[in-house]
Amino acid sequence: MTSGPLRSLEPRVDGLGLSATLEINERSNALMARGETVYKLGLGQSPFPVPGSVVEALRRNAGQKDYLPVRGLPALREAVAAHQRRVCGLDCGADNVLIGPGSKELLFLLQVVYDAQLVLPNPSWVSYEPQARIAGRDVLWVESDRADMWRIQPDALDRALTSDPDRPRVLLLNYPSNPTGATYSRDHLQAIARVARSHRMVVLSDEIYGELHHEGDHVSIASYYPEGTIVSGGLSKWCGAGGWRLGTFILPGELSWLGDAMASAASETFTSTSAPIQHAAIEAFEGNDEIERYLHLSRGIVRDLGRWIAGELRSAGAAVDDPEGGFYLFPDFEPMGEALTERGIRSSADLTRRCLEEAGVAFLPGSCFGRPAEERTARIAYVNFDGERALAEASERGDEDAGDLAELPACASTREAVTRLADWLRG
Ligand code: PLP
Repeated sequence: MTSGPLRSLEPRVDGLGLSATLEINERSNALMARGETVYKLGLGQSPFPVPGSVVEALRRNAGQKDYLPVRGLPALREAVAAHQRRVCGLDCGADNVLIGPGSKELLFLLQVVYDAQLVLPNPSWVSYEPQARIAGRDVLWVESDRADMWRIQPDALDRALTSDPDRPRVLLLNYPSNPTGATYSRDHLQAIARVARSHRMVVLSDEIYGELHHEGDHVSIASYYPEGTIVSGGLSKWCGAGGWRLGTFILPGELSWLGDAMASAASETFTSTSAPIQHAAIEAFEGNDEIERYLHLSRGIVRDLGRWIAGELRSAGAAVDDPEGGFYLFPDFEPMGEALTERGIRSSADLTRRCLEEAGVAFLPGSCFGRPAEERTARIAYVNFDGERALAEASERGDEDAGDLAELPACASTREAVTRLADWLRG
């Protein structure tokens, strides 16, 4: 008998490592275990608690124990459709909705069942490209420019699609964006919709931060390309419930064949999403005055704090625009490139590693989001503050004298982190 190594991995997953966001979190935890102070601006988790009425609904439903239908609890599917009609004016019903254990799983399942090339704006969220790789799909990156706040331009998209025009493709559009904090105007979405329609391309519109549009004015590209758009969402970001694991897809009737294939794959893998969570999620999607107030305050806090941070980074020499939604910024440090090079910082990974080691501030290099390694860009998730306290303090101020919510005492840890980062940048 020969004794050889048993180790063997499918080439598509070999070398993937841990998702970059989880990795930086673990590295920060290791430093903290050694007694060092680390300001964590790496992991993109909502800082806010789950609204009380939704927690109460979960408590009431803790005894729900049955497997639910693979596409989701009918009452929840109806509530999700009604929410979408209310928020985005989309014409949809319960039949269009798929529920999954997090939208990440649904995004992956779509790539598993649909043999299509993934068209990705650069920069994009960290997990899209690895998911494509695991599913055996290839990726077509579409370039963007910092001057456009990293939004893809319709003509650049059109040009990228001209070769092999008959190839099935999925455009993954995410707005408000992780990592950039930018969103798209109505005109811009309309122009992208025209390109997508002319190429008969499916648009997978990841609108998980839609409810966190800083002015509460989110628009879906599905309004302009209803027959070809799948809208992805869930509870993780606007409802503070990332760990609950509940995601949603809304598919038009024209793409029901894709929904059917996803339901088959789901039935052979996760079976159905947690029953107590689905029952509780009905409360969240139906909404109430408490949730409206919670959303109003959450948006105000991330808007004001994001603007304050962008201002601080600009005065330290970085190029970055004010964010428009969500809780991310994607500063470009190239304008201070010479000074950074003198300090031996030649890549985005150098920059984030050195800043973690020397200033105790953790965030992610631009290379995780598709940017070239030597371009000194990075993503800041400004969510290391106590969201529950921030909501209480913002609520006490009342709308009339809300002022600048970036000044809230509860946001001190984020202001401190950014001040340290700005000082470190100044050298
Ligand atoms: N899409 C984007 C852009 C995200 O930032 C995230 C989470 O960080 C997800 C999707 C996945 O969210 P979930 O699986 O919690 O629904």
